[in-house]
Amino acid sequence: MTIAERRARVEYDQQNPWQPMSEAKIEDTSTVCTRNPQGDCEEPPKTKGIKRERLIFSLRAAVKSKANHTTSQKENRRMVFAGRFFPVFDTMPSDEFITRWREHTSNTGMPEEFESVSTTKPAQLENINLLSEEIAVPIKLRPGEDRVPCPFCAPGSPKFIRGRMAYFPDEKAVRFIGHKCAQSHFGDNFKLAEAVFRRQTMCRQYIELWREIGPRYGDMERFLDVMSKSAVDLQFVRDQLDKQATGFAGFLHGELAQVRGELFVKLDLGIKDRNGTAVIQEKLIGTAAGLRFLSRGYDVEKRIRQTRSALSTVEVELPEWIPSSPEHPATAEILKRGRLVEKSIQRIPGLLADINDGLLFLRRKNLSLIHQWGNRMDTPFARFEIKSDDRQMQVRSNSFAGDHYANVLIPAAAKLAPVKTPDPAIEQLIRMVA
Ligand SMILES: [Zn+2]
Repeated sequence: MTIAERRARVEYDQQNPWQPMSEAKIEDTSTVCTRNPQGDCEEPPKTKGIKRERLIFSLRAAVKSKANHTTSQKENRRMVFAGRFFPVFDTMPSDEFITRWREHTSNTGMPEEFESVSTTKPAQLENINLLSEEIAVPIKLRPGEDRVPCPFCAPGSPKFIRGRMAYFPDEKAVRFIGHKCAQSHFGDNFKLAEAVFRRQTMCRQYIELWREIGPRYGDMERFLDVMSKSAVDLQFVRDQLDKQATGFAGFLHGELAQVRGELFVKLDLGIKDRNGTAVIQEKLIGTAAGLRFLSRGYDVEKRIRQTRSALSTVEVELPEWIPSSPEHPATAEILKRGRLVEKSIQRIPGLLADINDGLLFLRRKNLSLIHQWGNRMDTPFARFEIKSDDRQMQVRSNSFAGDHYANVLIPAAAKLAPVKTPDPAIEQLIRMVA
């Protein structure tokens, strides 16, 4: 840049601090990735003897906007490509800025032309902050459907479709960069930037989660109350069974799991075939519930207690937070509390299935189905009996796993109908964290 140009630019910047000095059009597009001319900057390009910073562009637009500019047209053509440079971000741009930039990009396909977006080659390679995930630019909206220029390897030349918005705090600037190019230029710094970006993204999601749970908290508490009552009583049944007939639940679980709960019995049809052999038919009598209830480590009472305790932390607001560089001091707390609540909500569907399976197992119809199956021909049981009345379940079994006997009490909430799936509001929360 000549002294005259620099002076002109300073003057212009003073008058128009948010506008670029020029919207330089490219005449010389000699920077192309020779290895991957159409690709997304996988390799830094060759520059055919011209330093990338010294690309030659016409500055017609600049001249138009600066009528009193003293440089001649001929000299203009020899000018160094300056690009747009806006060192205006003392702090990381707000989410609101990024949201407007996203809208602009999807409406125009021109991410690099949004206010205060710089297009010059970055001078810093460390301490970069990513401001967006990979974004595919709708290049069909661009003049000539050109690709987006890459500030790194092709400032001013069509280069990439997928890119990422980044903040360069030392330069106080933001740039939209080709995603592969960024990766190859930043190396380990890129991995670090990626990790910080993920943490910030999670903070935003957890803040949003708190906002979503707020009005649904009462409904969720009531729903967990219903689950909790049955969980406590089911656990009481299972614990008695394990105490009185140690090993029986595991044995029955193994037998049922082999057939995935599908219970077949052999029926003697009472007729004989040509050879005089009795005709036996296999018949599916039903599918048994209980594979979850009988499984090892069934502990719905403890799990629902943990879930409720984790979810109760939602009642305490998260601290104030904004994306910043360096990372906002509240980040670690938000991530820790957010993860705890997120995991608890993620566990609700599995917990609900375990509780409902216990309720279905104890139904009289299910137990009589298992009883019928346990007394079929060719069973591993020398004797098998399982039955229930209003208050208790009786088990008598003699098999290679040993002799088992139990008579366990069934409290009221273990006899309830399965808990219905949560209402749409809670289901939405579950989908949010799925
Ligand atoms: Zn590039």
